[in-house]
Amino acid sequence: MIQQEMLSYQQLDGELNRIERDLKKNDNFIKRRQYKAASQECEENISKLDARALDLRNQLAQAQQTLQDITAVIDEHSGEIGSLEDEDELNYMNKKLNEQLAELNNVDKEIKRIIREGEELSKAFDEASAKLPRLIAGYRKCDEEFNKVAAEVKPRVNEIRARQTELKKVIDENIFNVYKKVADGGLYPVFVPLEGGTRCGGCRMEMPKAVVDAQFASKSYMKCEHCGRIIFKPE
Ligand SMILES: [Zn+2]
Repeated sequence: MIQQEMLSYQQLDGELNRIERDLKKNDNFIKRRQYKAASQECEENISKLDARALDLRNQLAQAQQTLQDITAVIDEHSGEIGSLEDEDELNYMNKKLNEQLAELNNVDKEIKRIIREGEELSKAFDEASAKLPRLIAGYRKCDEEFNKVAAEVKPRVNEIRARQTELKKVIDENIFNVYKKVADGGLYPVFVPLEGGTRCGGCRMEMPKAVVDAQFASKSYMKCEHCGRIIFKPE
Protein backbone atom coordinates (compact mmCIF):
# COMPACT_ATOMS: atom_id res chain seq x y z
CA MET A 1 0.00 0.00 0.00
CA ILE A 2 1.20 3.45 -0.86
CA GLN A 3 -0.22 6.51 0.92
CA GLN A 4 -3.08 8.09 -0.99
CA GLU A 5 -1.40 11.49 -0.59
CA MET A 6 1.70 10.15 -2.32
CA LEU A 7 -0.37 8.88 -5.22
CA SER A 8 -2.20 12.22 -5.45
CA TYR A 9 1.14 13.98 -5.47
CA GLN A 10 2.25 11.72 -8.30
CA GLN A 11 -0.93 12.43 -10.24
CA LEU A 12 -0.30 16.17 -9.94
CA ASP A 13 3.24 15.61 -11.19
CA GLY A 14 1.66 13.91 -14.18
CA GLU A 15 -0.35 17.03 -14.92
CA LEU A 16 2.76 19.19 -14.54
CA ASN A 17 4.58 16.89 -16.96
CA ARG A 18 1.78 17.26 -19.49
CA ILE A 19 1.82 21.04 -19.19
CA GLU A 20 5.59 21.08 -19.63
CA ARG A 21 5.41 18.74 -22.61
CA ASP A 22 2.80 20.94 -24.29
CA LEU A 23 4.92 24.04 -23.71
CA LYS A 24 7.93 22.35 -25.28
CA LYS A 25 5.85 21.47 -28.31
CA ASN A 26 4.80 25.09 -28.71
CA ASP A 27 5.88 26.59 -32.01
CA ASN A 28 7.36 29.69 -30.44
CA PHE A 29 9.30 27.61 -27.95
CA ILE A 30 10.87 25.61 -30.78
CA LYS A 31 11.56 28.67 -32.92
CA ARG A 32 12.99 30.57 -29.96
CA ARG A 33 15.52 27.78 -29.45
CA GLN A 34 16.40 27.81 -33.14
CA TYR A 35 16.87 31.59 -33.15
CA LYS A 36 19.06 31.32 -30.09
CA ALA A 37 21.28 28.68 -31.68
CA ALA A 38 21.48 30.66 -34.93
CA SER A 39 22.44 33.91 -33.20
CA GLN A 40 25.08 32.14 -31.14
CA GLU A 41 26.49 30.65 -34.31
CA CYS A 42 26.45 34.07 -35.95
CA GLU A 43 28.25 35.65 -32.98
CA GLU A 44 30.89 32.94 -33.08
CA ASN A 45 31.30 33.53 -36.79
CA ILE A 46 31.82 37.26 -36.20
CA SER A 47 34.47 36.47 -33.57
CA LYS A 48 36.25 34.19 -36.01
CA LEU A 49 36.15 36.90 -38.69
CA ASP A 50 37.55 39.39 -36.17
CA ALA A 51 40.42 37.04 -35.38
CA ARG A 52 41.08 36.51 -39.09
CA ALA A 53 41.07 40.28 -39.69
CA LEU A 54 43.68 40.76 -36.97
CA ASP A 55 45.76 38.01 -38.52
CA LEU A 56 45.54 39.69 -41.94
CA ARG A 57 46.54 43.07 -40.50
CA ASN A 58 49.64 41.44 -39.01
CA GLN A 59 50.45 39.78 -42.31
CA LEU A 60 50.08 43.11 -44.09
CA ALA A 61 52.37 44.88 -41.63
CA GLN A 62 54.95 42.15 -42.12
CA ALA A 63 54.73 42.37 -45.92
CA GLN A 64 55.08 46.15 -45.77
CA GLN A 65 58.19 45.76 -43.62
CA THR A 66 59.66 43.31 -46.14
CA LEU A 67 58.85 45.79 -48.91
CA GLN A 68 60.73 48.54 -47.07
CA ASP A 69 63.72 46.26 -46.53
CA ILE A 70 63.89 45.36 -50.24
CA THR A 71 63.54 48.99 -51.28
CA ALA A 72 66.41 49.93 -48.99
CA VAL A 73 68.64 47.22 -50.48
CA ILE A 74 67.76 48.31 -54.03
CA ASP A 75 68.53 51.95 -53.17
CA GLU A 76 71.84 50.89 -51.74
CA HIS A 77 72.77 48.85 -54.83
CA SER A 78 71.65 51.63 -57.16
CA GLY A 79 73.96 54.06 -55.40
CA GLU A 80 76.88 51.72 -55.94
CA ILE A 81 76.34 51.36 -59.70
CA GLY A 82 78.11 54.65 -60.50
CA SER A 83 81.31 53.52 -58.79
CA LEU A 84 81.58 50.14 -60.55
CA GLU A 85 84.86 49.64 -62.35
CA ASP A 86 84.52 46.66 -64.65
CA GLU A 87 82.03 44.45 -66.40
CA ASP A 88 82.30 41.63 -63.81
CA GLU A 89 81.28 43.99 -61.06
CA LEU A 90 78.47 45.33 -63.24
CA ASN A 91 77.20 41.82 -63.94
CA TYR A 92 77.37 40.94 -60.28
CA MET A 93 75.43 44.03 -59.33
CA ASN A 94 72.92 43.33 -62.08
CA LYS A 95 72.36 39.85 -60.66
CA LYS A 96 71.88 41.28 -57.16
CA LEU A 97 69.37 43.79 -58.40
CA ASN A 98 67.41 41.15 -60.29
CA GLU A 99 67.21 39.06 -57.13
CA GLN A 100 65.74 41.98 -55.26
CA LEU A 101 63.28 42.68 -58.06
CA ALA A 102 62.10 39.06 -57.93
CA GLU A 103 61.61 39.43 -54.16
CA LEU A 104 59.76 42.66 -54.76
CA ASN A 105 57.45 40.87 -57.15
CA ASN A 106 56.71 38.19 -54.51
CA VAL A 107 55.88 40.74 -51.85
CA ASP A 108 53.67 42.57 -54.30
CA LYS A 109 51.72 39.35 -54.95
CA GLU A 110 51.51 38.71 -51.20
CA ILE A 111 50.10 42.19 -50.54
CA LYS A 112 47.54 41.76 -53.32
CA ARG A 113 46.47 38.44 -51.83
CA ILE A 114 46.09 39.99 -48.37
CA ILE A 115 44.00 42.82 -49.78
CA ARG A 116 41.80 40.39 -51.70
CA GLU A 117 41.25 38.27 -48.60
CA GLY A 118 40.57 41.42 -46.62
CA GLU A 119 37.84 42.38 -49.06
CA GLU A 120 36.22 38.95 -48.83
CA LEU A 121 36.46 39.13 -45.07
CA SER A 122 34.87 42.54 -44.99
CA LYS A 123 31.98 41.28 -47.12
CA ALA A 124 31.44 38.26 -44.84
CA PHE A 125 31.61 40.55 -41.83
CA ASP A 126 28.96 42.89 -43.27
CA GLU A 127 26.67 39.95 -44.01
CA ALA A 128 27.03 38.50 -40.51
CA SER A 129 26.60 41.91 -38.88
CA ALA A 130 23.39 42.48 -40.83
CA LYS A 131 22.08 39.00 -39.99
CA LEU A 132 22.65 39.14 -36.23
CA PRO A 133 20.08 41.88 -35.40
CA ARG A 134 17.47 39.99 -37.44
CA LEU A 135 18.14 36.80 -35.47
CA ILE A 136 18.02 38.65 -32.15
CA ALA A 137 14.73 40.32 -33.14
CA GLY A 138 13.33 36.91 -34.13
CA TYR A 139 14.37 35.46 -30.80
CA ARG A 140 12.74 38.32 -28.88
CA LYS A 141 9.48 37.98 -30.77
CA CYS A 142 9.25 34.24 -30.13
CA ASP A 143 10.27 34.76 -26.52
CA GLU A 144 7.48 37.29 -26.07
CA GLU A 145 4.88 35.03 -27.69
CA PHE A 146 6.00 32.00 -25.74
CA ASN A 147 5.94 33.91 -22.45
CA LYS A 148 2.28 34.74 -23.11
CA VAL A 149 1.47 31.04 -23.48
CA ALA A 150 3.52 30.18 -20.41
CA ALA A 151 1.71 32.90 -18.45
CA GLU A 152 -1.63 31.33 -19.34
CA VAL A 153 -0.78 28.05 -17.63
CA LYS A 154 1.07 29.69 -14.74
CA PRO A 155 -1.98 29.93 -12.40
CA ARG A 156 -2.69 26.22 -12.75
CA VAL A 157 1.00 25.38 -12.23
CA ASN A 158 1.05 27.48 -9.06
CA GLU A 159 -2.13 25.80 -7.87
CA ILE A 160 -0.62 22.35 -8.43
CA ARG A 161 2.59 23.29 -6.65
CA ALA A 162 0.68 24.69 -3.67
CA ARG A 163 -1.38 21.50 -3.43
CA GLN A 164 1.79 19.40 -3.67
CA THR A 165 3.38 21.39 -0.84
CA GLU A 166 0.37 20.59 1.31
CA LEU A 167 0.46 16.90 0.40
CA LYS A 168 4.16 16.62 1.06
CA LYS A 169 3.64 17.58 4.69
CA VAL A 170 1.86 14.29 5.37
CA ILE A 171 3.79 12.03 2.98
CA ASP A 172 6.20 9.59 4.60
CA GLU A 173 9.71 10.92 4.02
CA ASN A 174 11.22 7.58 3.03
CA ILE A 175 8.59 6.85 0.43
CA PHE A 176 8.88 10.39 -0.89
CA ASN A 177 12.64 9.95 -1.32
CA VAL A 178 12.05 6.70 -3.19
CA TYR A 179 9.60 8.53 -5.42
CA LYS A 180 11.95 11.49 -6.05
CA LYS A 181 14.88 9.29 -6.94
CA VAL A 182 12.94 7.44 -9.64
CA ALA A 183 11.03 10.52 -10.86
CA ASP A 184 14.25 12.55 -11.24
CA GLY A 185 15.48 9.81 -13.53
CA GLY A 186 12.66 10.80 -15.92
CA LEU A 187 10.20 7.97 -15.22
CA TYR A 188 6.47 8.58 -14.91
CA PRO A 189 4.44 7.25 -13.20
CA VAL A 190 6.79 6.03 -10.51
CA PHE A 191 4.28 4.06 -8.43
CA VAL A 192 2.35 1.47 -10.35
CA PRO A 193 0.00 -1.23 -9.03
CA LEU A 194 0.82 -4.91 -9.09
CA GLU A 195 -1.43 -6.47 -11.69
CA GLY A 196 -2.80 -9.98 -11.48
CA GLY A 197 -0.52 -10.72 -8.54
CA THR A 198 2.64 -11.07 -10.65
CA ARG A 199 2.76 -8.30 -13.26
CA CYS A 200 4.30 -4.79 -13.21
CA GLY A 201 1.53 -2.24 -13.79
CA GLY A 202 4.03 -0.01 -15.63
CA CYS A 203 5.80 -2.18 -18.19
CA ARG A 204 3.54 -5.27 -17.88
CA MET A 205 6.51 -7.54 -17.24
CA GLU A 206 5.59 -10.85 -15.65
CA MET A 207 7.55 -11.84 -12.55
CA PRO A 208 7.85 -15.21 -10.79
CA LYS A 209 5.29 -15.41 -7.99
CA ALA A 210 7.96 -16.54 -5.51
CA VAL A 211 10.00 -13.39 -6.18
CA VAL A 212 6.98 -11.13 -5.76
CA ASP A 213 5.92 -12.84 -2.54
CA ALA A 214 9.44 -12.64 -1.11
CA GLN A 215 9.66 -8.93 -1.91
CA PHE A 216 6.31 -8.06 -0.40
CA ALA A 217 6.98 -10.17 2.68
CA SER A 218 9.34 -7.56 4.03
CA LYS A 219 8.18 -4.35 2.32
CA SER A 220 5.04 -2.62 1.15
CA TYR A 221 6.52 -2.08 -2.30
CA MET A 222 9.09 -3.55 -4.71
CA LYS A 223 11.16 -2.22 -7.56
CA CYS A 224 10.48 -3.56 -11.05
CA GLU A 225 13.76 -5.02 -12.31
CA HIS A 226 12.64 -4.36 -15.84
CA CYS A 227 11.46 -0.74 -15.92
CA GLY A 228 12.69 0.58 -12.57
CA ARG A 229 9.21 1.64 -11.38
CA ILE A 230 7.98 1.03 -7.87
CA ILE A 231 5.25 -1.59 -7.69
CA PHE A 232 2.71 -1.55 -4.87
CA LYS A 233 -0.11 -3.91 -4.00
CA PRO A 234 -3.45 -2.29 -4.66
CA GLU A 235 -5.96 -2.51 -1.82
ZN1 LIG B 1 8.02 -2.59 -14.84
